[in-house]
Amino acid sequence: MNKFQPLHDEIERSLVQPIKSKLSDVYNLKIFIKRDDLIDREISGNKWRKLKYNILEAQKNNKNTLISYGGAYSNHLYALAAAGKRYGFKTVALIRGEAPSTLGYTLRYLKANDVELHFCSRADYRSQEFRDDFAEQFGDDTYVIPEGGSNALAIKGSSEMAAEIKKQFPTLPNYVCISAGTGSTAAGLIAGLDGESHVLVFPALKGNWMERTINKHLQEYNGKTYSNWQIVPDYHFGGYAKFDGELIQFMNDFKRQYQIPLDPIYTSKLLYGIFDMVAENIFSKGKSILMIHTGGLQGIEGFKERFNL
Ligand SMILES: *Cc1c(COP(=O)(O)O)cnc(C)c1O
Repeated sequence: MNKFQPLHDEIERSLVQPIKSKLSDVYNLKIFIKRDDLIDREISGNKWRKLKYNILEAQKNNKNTLISYGGAYSNHLYALAAAGKRYGFKTVALIRGEAPSTLGYTLRYLKANDVELHFCSRADYRSQEFRDDFAEQFGDDTYVIPEGGSNALAIKGSSEMAAEIKKQFPTLPNYVCISAGTGSTAAGLIAGLDGESHVLVFPALKGNWMERTINKHLQEYNGKTYSNWQIVPDYHFGGYAKFDGELIQFMNDFKRQYQIPLDPIYTSKLLYGIFDMVAENIFSKGKSILMIHTGGLQGIEGFKERFNL
């Protein structure tokens, strides 16, 4: 079995780059992006951060099988498949929804990496009991990771972003901006900053539960409550994996201008939102803003297939 080597050079890979634009000049803002998407090509972005201590834990306890859950386009399952293959685990995934007649990009990748795929109805998927029963059939040598990889060890891994930011910026940026799905990456960032700077969380999904969820993550993780963060609820574009032409245009323009690819589900919405807020003059003059590139670039292929882009 290939031993997982926890990378100690994430900070070398996750570079901070300045993003200059006419607008930020007008408002005298300093904008940066932290490239977590560069940490690892396959176990990308925040999924690396979230899996890191889980993989170490599974190895420490001599588990030989990883089990997790997700949708058919899940960035988490993609990263898990890569990690399982690379570090010698058997990997099992329970997929939300009945088996499609042809597998999409992400499921094909899972299959190519020898992930054992199981499908279930959406109703079954929602039931924790169903999931527990599912996991049980694989015996005791299994390590179960929740949907999205979101558990306390994921929050611990994500908190390391903050430690790096503190090293990369002699003076912390005024704002650190991050996209959220389950909110556990954001919780890790907030916990790691431990009251410093101000975190803006941009949900990629519709709904008003994100603040509650992040507080719950923090409660479970270190029992602290923080006031230096807020939700920016206005840039979900209709919900998870919803989009419009303007968002796609923005994503393509951004890549052309800065040579930095964004994903359509999370990071495009985050950066669109920040650029829109800059244009609306919401940040006061002279402030510095750090955006986290949480990766997710594998999602582009599935997205193109699904929506014929
Ligand atoms: C999964 C993912 C997120 C959301 O992370 P959560 O911890 O679930 O909030 C954000 N960005 C990208 C690119 C992702 O793949």
